[in-house]
Amino acid sequence: MKFEDLTTKLNKMSPADRNGFIAELKKECICHECPTYNTCTQKSKELLFCILGKSMCPIDEKICRCPQDCSVHQKYDMKLSFYCLRGKEIERRDELYTIKI
Ligand code: SF4
Ligand code: SF4
Repeated sequence: MKFEDLTTKLNKMSPADRNGFIAELKKECICHECPTYNTCTQKSKELLFCILGKSMCPIDEKICRCPQDCSVHQKYDMKLSFYCLRGKEIERRDELYTIKI
């Protein structure tokens, strides 16, 4: 499924359905196995930064496992990484089209 279609699907869901869907996606999130996931995020139990947005914790970027290893990233054709620090996919799609000079 394209990421845009996931966004449409989420927007059409009732709050209860959306919460259930998010809870299921969190089970697939592998952030807790990533070196960048730290003691603060372990305590706060934050996950699914790609959809829910950046962490409330201070983050020291190490590596990001999203693009290589996460089924959610692959399933929804996501393109970016380091969501815990840099924010969710939907707010950052412009980065893909920005030419850095
Ligand atoms: S893409 Fe990253 S933030 Fe999103 S579910 Fe996968 S591991 Fe978690
Ligand atoms: S978003 Fe990426 S960098 Fe952050 S904890 Fe998840 S896998 Fe690691």
